Amino acid sequence: MLEVKNIQAQHGLLQAVRGVSFSVRKGEVLGVIGANGAGKTTLFRAITGVHTDMTGSVTLNGQDISAVRPGKRVAAGLAMVPEGRRLFPDMSVRENLQVAGEHGRRGDWTMETVLDALPALKPIMRSLAGNLSGGQRQAVAIGRALMTNPDVVIMDEVSLGLSPIAIEGLYESLAQLKASGKTGIVVVEQDLRRALTFSDRVICLLEGAITLEGASGELTHDDITSAYFGLSAKGEERSAAHA
Ligand code: ATP
Repeated sequence: MLEVKNIQAQHGLLQAVRGVSFSVRKGEVLGVIGANGAGKTTLFRAITGVHTDMTGSVTLNGQDISAVRPGKRVAAGLAMVPEGRRLFPDMSVRENLQVAGEHGRRGDWTMETVLDALPALKPIMRSLAGNLSGGQRQAVAIGRALMTNPDVVIMDEVSLGLSPIAIEGLYESLAQLKASGKTGIVVVEQDLRRALTFSDRVICLLEGAITLEGASGELTHDDITSAYFGLSAKGEERSAAHA
């Protein structure tokens, strides 16, 4: 469904993403892990077309969308739930969802199916987005992305700043979304245990490059910690940039 090849992205002189390639199939969950500053947000902003100082190709359902502007990528089927959620605070939850629906594609996700997948939204449909808790805002942001009927949805740091109870609720909703099998999901998660249990496959980023890729069930704790912290098998530090 989504295939990204050799993405390089810069912030001025700083090379934040170095030759990242991966793909996501329909209904598959790809977990992305990596320490703060590893380049995850820059990578996703490059894939969605928001960060333009980049090279590499982004293909969605066989269509090369590398040169397509961000709004048109949504129309092509790529949605992002940004870190920080960015809802319209003065609009109700219903209105936030409606606006997204009007700007996206037609498909299986409607107000009704989104509410079935994210039942936590039902009691807050009339509330202003600006008055919601962090967990509720995150659920609305996910619902809003689904309303555009994406083939692939990218979720950056979904559980950031949420209470443990809110995170539980959020992942219950995400499990329903995954079970629907309709949408490829890319999820950035700082909690490694959760990233491994929720996703089918995982990639780990370090200093802008992929240091590990594999099926979640097959990776060992040692594989992950060495990829995450940039340690060799002997525990020596190494730089991803030169690996
Ligand atoms: P986090 O988990 O903290 O969001 P991340 O893995 O998403 O981290 P990025 O935010 O993509 O990583 O940052 C990658 C590198 O690019 C870091 O060295 C960061 O300092 C730098 N960077 C990010 N945004 C900017 C910016 N707007 N201007 C300059 N440098 C930036």
